[in-house]
Amino acid sequence: MTIEPLTAGEPLGVGMDEPVDRNGAFPRLTDEQRARLRAVGQTRAVSPGEVLFRDGDPGYDFFVVESGAVAIVEGYGRENRVIAVHGPHRFLGEISLVAGSPAYLSAVVRDAGELLQVPAAALRKLLGEDEELSNLILRAFMSRRSILIDIGAGVKVVGSRYSQDTRRVRTFLARNRMPYHWMDLEDDEEAERLLRGIGVSACETPVVICGEDVLRNPSNADIAALLGFGSRGAAPPMCDLIIVGAGPAGLAAAVYGASEGLDTQVIDKVAFGGQASTSARIENYLGFPTGISGSELAERAIIQASRFGARMVVPAKAVALHAENAHYAVELSDGSYVNGRTIIVATGAQYRKLDLPGLDRYEGLGVYYAATQSEAALCADDPVLIVGGGNSAGQAAMFLSQQAASCRLAIRGGDLSKSMSRYLVDELERRPQVELMTYTEVVELKGDTVLEAVVLADPRTGARSELECRALFVFIGADPHTEWLRGHAAMDEHCFLLTGRDVQGEDLSAYSTEPFFLETSRPGIFAVGDVHSGSVKRVASAVGEGSMAVRLVHQRLAAV
Ligand SMILES: Cc1cc2nc3c(=O)[nH]c(=O)nc-3n(C[C@H](O)[C@H](O)[C@H](O)COP(=O)(O)OP(=O)(O)OC[C@H]3O[C@@H](n4cnc5c(N)ncnc54)[C@H](O)[C@@H]3O)c2cc1C
Repeated sequence: MTIEPLTAGEPLGVGMDEPVDRNGAFPRLTDEQRARLRAVGQTRAVSPGEVLFRDGDPGYDFFVVESGAVAIVEGYGRENRVIAVHGPHRFLGEISLVAGSPAYLSAVVRDAGELLQVPAAALRKLLGEDEELSNLILRAFMSRRSILIDIGAGVKVVGSRYSQDTRRVRTFLARNRMPYHWMDLEDDEEAERLLRGIGVSACETPVVICGEDVLRNPSNADIAALLGFGSRGAAPPMCDLIIVGAGPAGLAAAVYGASEGLDTQVIDKVAFGGQASTSARIENYLGFPTGISGSELAERAIIQASRFGARMVVPAKAVALHAENAHYAVELSDGSYVNGRTIIVATGAQYRKLDLPGLDRYEGLGVYYAATQSEAALCADDPVLIVGGGNSAGQAAMFLSQQAASCRLAIRGGDLSKSMSRYLVDELERRPQVELMTYTEVVELKGDTVLEAVVLADPRTGARSELECRALFVFIGADPHTEWLRGHAAMDEHCFLLTGRDVQGEDLSAYSTEPFFLETSRPGIFAVGDVHSGSVKRVASAVGEGSMAVRLVHQRLAAV
């Protein structure tokens, strides 16, 4: 890809003000804080147009502006979109600097002055030692990442809105919290011009562009390699602990495993953070009284686990398990293996969704998969519809009917007692606030920005009717990600992993004693979070189990 260099000394961002310090994203360092950074860095004079780092660079240093100003630029030398300008006592960089991944924006001096430059490795060391600077810098980096995601400033994706691969690439970047700027081939003339300029034809799209690198219809693994997702370097021949799945349960296990000295390898098939990272606001997690977004919680945990030395690899999908001589080998979809003495399975479960057009638009804005106090508060005094005939649907109806304006429970069949415990059916019958709707399916969702109504159909006749509904609760089951363990560990009738006492009665010939709590029917293989049978499907319990399992891993390792 040809980059048109700017004329030497040509400044960018002239006349642009510095951004206001929102959520601690752009603090100014005090004299005292800068003095501490000066002890590990060097001060130097810079002139306008000097490039400090450029998109595509494999890494970059930490810079503090002592005087003058620096512009942060997307597509430097091409479209030169100035994202921000930083003046005296502000610092540059974002979370990629801590992760040691490549730069995807460029920094170009606008006004002559002096900069303090701290090598990336020295900064990472300092962050582990200086609590005040660590809090301030990490908070700023995380807030900046959120802002960049919001404004769509980062790597460039060019592709059609109708292409499955464009959708896959965008989802993969979003799940990995990678800021990107999408240009839709369908109606963006700039997109066509850009493709022509780099010699890419429309049939080679989607393309991902970072600096001089252009990936044509890349696999998720290609994208991860280019943008430096996860840790670098190969796994050692044998780890103490392999954690499969990096949702809240797996990340908690990673933090505890690595911090307690276990050689820990974490793999995830899509992204670190799991399902929780798709939740806009988790209101019921300890220590966050105003709630926390799932992706922020995940980001914090990823940094924590990495700082303790856990190796994190994405995308890495476990497809099979092999029991070797006194250890296990997890086979990945690319044909490689990870060997470990113990395994924590934290692969979660996929909540079944209704097959309805536009469903994702309403998720969190009227469509929910859990009925906790926080969802109840969101729909207090509103008409509520619950879909599902199992116990979780019945419990949700009992609970939500206390606050909702009206509460209906819809099932496809005609007899609730076929799928729900008798006691719950009796309780529901005694509760006039809950109306049971038999032979009812939801076939359409309606509402401009939030859910306002649903269209219902009778599966026997096809007759349709519209129902006012502000909150739709879906409890139609969940499928655990345990395909790769079939035949290796005991499971319940829905393929969730049995653990601890629930394993009794299964083949336990591999044990000399009996399974620990959270241990599966295979010694040294533990199951935590949503994947294990009878889990409560909450972030907090997943985190609790992930940390608890590490203690049991130690015991298992000591017992062999
Ligand atoms: C929209 C939504 C909102 C929610 N809101 C809340 C809330 O407010 N409060 C609350 O307490 N709970 C909430 N939950 C439930 C909560 O998110 C889950 O209980 C929690 O995420 C379970 O954590 P986990 O680590 O067990 O599994 P998950 O979060 O599901 O993570 C499993 C991970 O394993 C990976 N994986 C799966 N198979 C493989 C494989 N073969 N190889 C490698 N990796 C694999 C997946 O990619 C995933 O990253 C919500 C769930 C959803 C869907």
